[in-house]
Amino acid sequence: MEQTKNKGNSTSNSSKNSKSPSRTNKSSGNGSKSSSQAQQSSLLQEFFLDELKDIYWAEKHLIKALPKMAKAATSDELRQAFTDHLEATNGHVARLEEAFGILGEKVQAKKCEAMAGLTKEGDGIIEDTEKGTLTRDVGLIMAAQKVEHYEIATYGSLAQLAKTLGKNDLADLMVKTLEEEKEADQLLTSIAENNINVEAKEE
Ligand code: FE
Ligand code: FE
Ligand code: ZN
Repeated sequence: MEQTKNKGNSTSNSSKNSKSPSRTNKSSGNGSKSSSQAQQSSLLQEFFLDELKDIYWAEKHLIKALPKMAKAATSDELRQAFTDHLEATNGHVARLEEAFGILGEKVQAKKCEAMAGLTKEGDGIIEDTEKGTLTRDVGLIMAAQKVEHYEIATYGSLAQLAKTLGKNDLADLMVKTLEEEKEADQLLTSIAENNINVEAKEE
């Protein structure tokens, strides 16, 4: 639980670029095996916390993006799926806040470049497709599934990492969100396969 805040130069520039120090293995050359193990797990926990901040930013960003996607959707079915996932996303944010609490850390967001890019791509699809067409829905589904896959990869990794760190309560939280992201992804697949794609072909 104890977080080592100052380990020489390894975290001193953390506000600007906290990822690279966490990813650098500084434990080499450490004499005793037990102390190198202890340092390793604390670096891993720092890394976990960093990734938590990243996905927290991403989920908060999605809360702003999903209403835009719902508004842009042509079919009621897709609009409903986005609206429902907005509600789920509020729950994901709450779970992440709980996770910060479990770690005894303050809730903090750090810009997720991937989610910024994925939602930008979504905006581009809205711009490039005609309002009221199912081709737009095809594009929105594709953009949304890219988002879901990013989240699935993140929560899958975080769940596994939490287990490695011996924090099963944290792992359970990550798995709950992971399952909801998978459900959202599957729903989008079925909307595309059952209705939208074929009808879009007629446009
Ligand atoms: Fe989410
Ligand atoms: Fe990210
Ligand atoms: Zn999601």
